[in-house]
Amino acid sequence: MYEESIDGFFGDYGGKYIPEILHSAIDELDSAFDFYIHDKDFLDELNILRRDYIGRETPLMFAERATELLGGGKIFIKLEGLANTGAHKINNAIGQVLLAKKMGKTRIIAETGAGQHGVATAAACAKLGMQCVIYQGEVDVRRQQPNVASMELYGAKVVAVKTGSRTLKDAVNEAMRDWATNFETTHYCLGSALGPAPFPDMVRTFQSIIGEEVKKQCAERNIQIDSLVACVGGGSNASGFFAPFFKDEKIKLYGAEGGGTGPEIGNNASRMVGTSARDGIMQGFKSRFLVDDDGQAQKTSSISAGLDYLGISPQLAMLGKTGRITFEAIRDNEALEAVNFFAKNEGILMALESSHAAAYAMKLAPKVPKDKAIIINMSGRGDKDVFITSPVFRPEEWKEFLKSELKRLEENKDVHEKY
Ligand SMILES: *Cc1c(COP(=O)(O)O)cnc(C)c1O
Repeated sequence: MYEESIDGFFGDYGGKYIPEILHSAIDELDSAFDFYIHDKDFLDELNILRRDYIGRETPLMFAERATELLGGGKIFIKLEGLANTGAHKINNAIGQVLLAKKMGKTRIIAETGAGQHGVATAAACAKLGMQCVIYQGEVDVRRQQPNVASMELYGAKVVAVKTGSRTLKDAVNEAMRDWATNFETTHYCLGSALGPAPFPDMVRTFQSIIGEEVKKQCAERNIQIDSLVACVGGGSNASGFFAPFFKDEKIKLYGAEGGGTGPEIGNNASRMVGTSARDGIMQGFKSRFLVDDDGQAQKTSSISAGLDYLGISPQLAMLGKTGRITFEAIRDNEALEAVNFFAKNEGILMALESSHAAAYAMKLAPKVPKDKAIIINMSGRGDKDVFITSPVFRPEEWKEFLKSELKRLEENKDVHEKY
C-alpha cells in the first residue's frame, strides 16, 4: 500500500533473520495478513472497533496560540492521545489481536518496555476475548507499576523476565521463545514497526489510519501541509503518520529521536543522528542499532521510556539514509520545555515521547511560511508521565506526596479488606 517492503526488505534493511523454529509461525502470519488486509469482513470489523472502541477519528487541532507565539507556519496537532488507552499503540494492538482471532488463535503474547504496548495489548485482548500474556523485563516491572496494574486489571498475566539486562530486548527474546513453541494457539503481537518481516509492514499498515485521517482532514479544511513531525522510538507512530505521504515529496517529513542528555555514547537513544549507532542485525531484522564494536547492546538513555529502544524501524532507517526523512536528536530538557509550552498555551498535556516531536516543531515552525501547516503527531497523552515530570517541575511537593501516600498505606494495612 505505502512503499511496502520487497520480500521484507527496505533497501538493505529489514528481512527476517530468524531461527528455523520460527519459520512456520512467520509464514502463517505472512499469508494471513496478506489475506485479511484485503478481506471486507475483516476491514468492516476493524473500522467499527476503530470508531466505537478506540474513538476514531482523532481530532486535528489548530494550535492557534502556539502558532502566534512561534511566529511562522500554522501549527496543527493530531491528537492520538485521545485514543482509548491514551496513545497510538492501540491502533496496532486492535489490528493484530483481531487478525489473530480470525486466524483461530486463542492466546496473545506481547513484549513491553515501559508498559504502554502491554496496556494496549491487554485492553485489546479484554475487548476481543483473548487470553493475554505480557513479557516485561524485571527491571521494568519494578519501575512501571502503574502500567503493570492496568495490564492486570485488563486481565493479562505479566511475566517478569529475569534474563540479560532484564529490560525490553530481553522481553522480546522471551516472547519470541514462547511464540516458537506455542504458535499453533498463540499470536505474538509485536508493538512497533520492528522485528522480522512481515511485522514492519503490518504495524505500519495498522498505524496508517493516523496519516489517512490527517490527509482527509487537511483536504476537507483546505490545509496546505508543509511538513509532518513525529517522535521515533521503534517507529510505529511515525510510520503510520508519514506513510500516506511517503511519495509526496513536496511534504517534508521530520523524525525526533531521544537525544537524552547529550551526544556521548550511552547518554542518548539516537540511532539516526550522530555516530553512536551502526548497521547490524538484531532481534530478527537488519537496521541501525546502538551496539558496540562487538555487537553488544549499548546503554541508552532518554527521559521518555518509549524512545529508548536500541533499534529503529528498517523502513525509517532506509528513508533516513535516502534523505526522505530528516532526523534530529531532541534532548531531555527540550522535551520537558515543550510539555510545558503546550500545556500552558494550548491546554494539551503531551506524553514525553510526543513532546520530542513538539520540541522539534518549535524549532522548525519559524522557518515555515505563514500560510502553510506544520503538523505534530501527539502520539500519546502525558498523564502517565506524572512520576517523571512532577519530580522535575515540583520535586519537594512530589516527595511529600509520595511520603504521605506511603504512610497512609502503612497505617491502613488492612485497606484491601475494606472492599
Ligand atoms: C511507545 C510510544 C512511542 C514510541 O514508539 P513508536 O513505535 O516509535 O511510535 C511514542 N509515543 C508514545 C506515547 C508511546 O507510548
